[in-house]
Amino acid sequence: MEIRNALVYCEDHKFRKGTIEIQGERISRVRTAESEISSSSRMDCGNPGGAARTSGGSCANGSGETGTASVVVQLDKGVSCANGSGETGPASADASALDAHGLYAIPGLVDVHFHGADGCDFCDGNEESIDRIARYEAKHGVLAICPATMTFSEEKLMKVMRAAAAHKNGSGADLVGIHMEGPFVSPKKLGAQNPAFAHAPDIAMVRRLAEAADGLLKIVDIAPELPGAKGFIREISKDIVISVSHTCADYETTRMAFKSGASHLTHTFNAMPGIHHRAPGPIPAALEAGADAELIADGVHIHPSIVRLAFRLFGEERMILISDSMEATGLPDGTYSLGGQAVIKRGRRAALASDPDTIAGSVTNLFDCMKTAVLDMKVPLETAVRAAAENPARSIGIEKDYGSIAPGRYANVVLMDREMNVRGIVQRGRLVKLDN
Ligand SMILES: [Zn+2]
Repeated sequence: MEIRNALVYCEDHKFRKGTIEIQGERISRVRTAESEISSSSRMDCGNPGGAARTSGGSCANGSGETGTASVVVQLDKGVSCANGSGETGPASADASALDAHGLYAIPGLVDVHFHGADGCDFCDGNEESIDRIARYEAKHGVLAICPATMTFSEEKLMKVMRAAAAHKNGSGADLVGIHMEGPFVSPKKLGAQNPAFAHAPDIAMVRRLAEAADGLLKIVDIAPELPGAKGFIREISKDIVISVSHTCADYETTRMAFKSGASHLTHTFNAMPGIHHRAPGPIPAALEAGADAELIADGVHIHPSIVRLAFRLFGEERMILISDSMEATGLPDGTYSLGGQAVIKRGRRAALASDPDTIAGSVTNLFDCMKTAVLDMKVPLETAVRAAAENPARSIGIEKDYGSIAPGRYANVVLMDREMNVRGIVQRGRLVKLDN
């Protein structure tokens, strides 16, 4: 299979016109023109690749129904594709091609911090919820997921780890990791974490949970001011990424955490002290340590000016866009649940029912966060794509398979138009979405 005539997001983080060749599940070759296409001309002055073809293609799904395709598809050999419902038909990728003329081809996104979507929470701890979340994410261009746990009892977390370990990838986004956001959180910076289960750092507990997760536990969060934090970080960081999170720690304490082995900062600016010129707090400590910095660019959690500031401070290679999305994502306004607490969703905002000033996760998927960062916050497209795909993949050690368009990677490609609407998704070499 190949994707022709796309504006391909290349390994050097620039767009070039070209073709992505795919063999089986993986990219075999990327052929592109020499000249790059600049971000400013592309986003502001129209599409140098030409207008996207919005008619002329049609395709059939497994049921035999046809839908109008938004890109021209050459259905040479039995490739079937999704109709407007987002359902996937069986696909055979042999000798087929997509003409993605005028569309951008970016890597499938990687979300390393979110809790749920489409009415399900990862902490439901069952296959039905994982499957539903994975399908929702894939439909929105997020093709690798590392969902997060909330602050719960070890017993409940154990159930979540076991359910994840038992999950088999194959439908929806690939489950590539678990981010353990609680329970080693500061009781004074809980956000939407449940105070009943806040816990001192516990090496043995993490070892037990990691074993149950069967290699999937990739990130463990900790407030570094908690007793025993230093020894915990030294020990656990040998195998698992340690992220500073839900903390009241000052600059010196956070510096100690990064010197001891932490390398990641959870939702930068949220649930931690801000930057003060005489009390710098955790953010400058993370910056000076070269840590990766997560950021929620949903338009609710962080002012656009601070989003731009964060990208300038940490640089495009260290920023990681996350959604931190909860179960109401993709659903209408109403009352939902996060970490055992009632949450009210109104528009793009979700807040604790018991404390409406406390934001409780987001209700925006990662693709839409990336889109918001670019279209509303003026983060350059190339930078935002890197922060939503390559950087998160690298942060959890899966960059050889996910996060970029390069030979050897899984053929996970999102095709989008210049308004950043998803027009097609190829997952592991199969066309899984094609609609308007
Ligand atoms: Zn979270």
